[in-house]
Amino acid sequence: MTTYRIAVIPGDGIGPEVIDQGLHVLKGLGRRFDFGWKFRSLPWGSDYYFKHGRMMPEGGLETLRPFDAIYFGAVGHPEIHDHVTLNNLLLPIRRGFDQYVCMRPGLLYPGVKSPLNGKKARDIDMVVIRENTEGEYANVGGFHYEGTPQEMAAQTSVFTRHGCERVIRFAFELARRSDRRRKVTSVTKSNAMGYGMVLWDRVFEEVSAEFPDVATESLLVDAACMDFIRRPEDFDVVVASNLFGDILTDIAAMITGSMGLASSGNIDPERRFPSMFEPVHGSAPDITGEGLANPLAAILSGAMMVRHLGQEEAADALEAAVVQTLEAGDALTPDLGGKASTEEVGDAVLQALNGRNNGVPRIWWVYENLPRRRGRIHLASCSFCNDGQGLHDSTAPTGRWYGPFTTTDAAIEQALQTRAEDLGGCGVCQPGVGTLRTR
Ligand code: ATP
Repeated sequence: MTTYRIAVIPGDGIGPEVIDQGLHVLKGLGRRFDFGWKFRSLPWGSDYYFKHGRMMPEGGLETLRPFDAIYFGAVGHPEIHDHVTLNNLLLPIRRGFDQYVCMRPGLLYPGVKSPLNGKKARDIDMVVIRENTEGEYANVGGFHYEGTPQEMAAQTSVFTRHGCERVIRFAFELARRSDRRRKVTSVTKSNAMGYGMVLWDRVFEEVSAEFPDVATESLLVDAACMDFIRRPEDFDVVVASNLFGDILTDIAAMITGSMGLASSGNIDPERRFPSMFEPVHGSAPDITGEGLANPLAAILSGAMMVRHLGQEEAADALEAAVVQTLEAGDALTPDLGGKASTEEVGDAVLQALNGRNNGVPRIWWVYENLPRRRGRIHLASCSFCNDGQGLHDSTAPTGRWYGPFTTTDAAIEQALQTRAEDLGGCGVCQPGVGTLRTR
């Protein structure tokens, strides 16, 4: 049995609360899909800082290095400057392990209401790829005459050809994946920032020439902020600098329902170092300790980690369990209009994962544009009973069950052309409902 070694840094504020639920669900996932976990919790963060004067011990990166991945909660404390907490824990890990891709999906899930009028599930379905090691967060600069009336501060953005090229290339490759729509939008401010971002624009144009099948768009960041609100459905893969990606993903989180749903991965695509998975939200001191924090962003970040570790089926099942929980609507935290506690949401996801739906009908929802996702539809056993056989669409985030079928091409063709809804489980565990209906 494969066992994954994970360094867990719950961190500050609501970090430990949401990570607890993430671990609860991940353990259940391992049991169901027959892989093991070895979690090691590291008490780094603001409490550590109060005791030791630093956010993590000296040699912290060396401690993390042998792990398969890092599962991170949140960092930040009202009594410590954000630049201290960030620059001494999160950013050194991102830079030290060359996690140059920060991947942040912005997906409007079924069962979630967008504050934007008239948006239906999956109308918003973008992934923001944020450059994660240089740009505006390169930590180059300094103070001069500090504390005097003449004091000055210089903060330098760093854009290297190498740094721009690799993250932009990652975005193009992602756009080509069968679950994406072959479009990359680059976001800069090269009209006002005439060096680094002009280099970025140039590299974007050069790399795009290698991907003639991928549509491109270049936006200034102010226009991009506006268009995230005005026409979010037009975005597929968005690639942006460290700062702009940071800001845009908060907008993406809000238009898709809540900060409490936004997941992220800090990824070293070359896999030389452990990658780190964390919710986009911060420590949220206003709700810490109240049991109100939505753990779904942490759970979905856990699903991203599971996918990164190569357990695609398990990741699909976990994402499907989250969708089922959202659709059922009876275990939602207050940010999503519910009354459930952090723990109750974790339990509901685990129950959905284990196929115990407590009488709540499972409403299954199928993409309108299924054919382009054909590459990832494969034969599988039913994710509820592990018994029935059928076709499984493993595309993020839901994974859909069509079946039962025989394994003929005609059946596959039929599945691709048929739009189905209200399917729950397979024909074995849900007799009578596990059949396709044509609209
Ligand atoms: P930090 O300063 O550490 O980045 P923050 O809490 O000030 O963190 P955000 O994480 O962006 O900033 O959160 C903004 C607000 O969104 C929080 O104060 C909280 O009210 C809400 N929020 C964030 N995460 C969640 C969550 N998981 N569940 C519910 N509400 C959340």
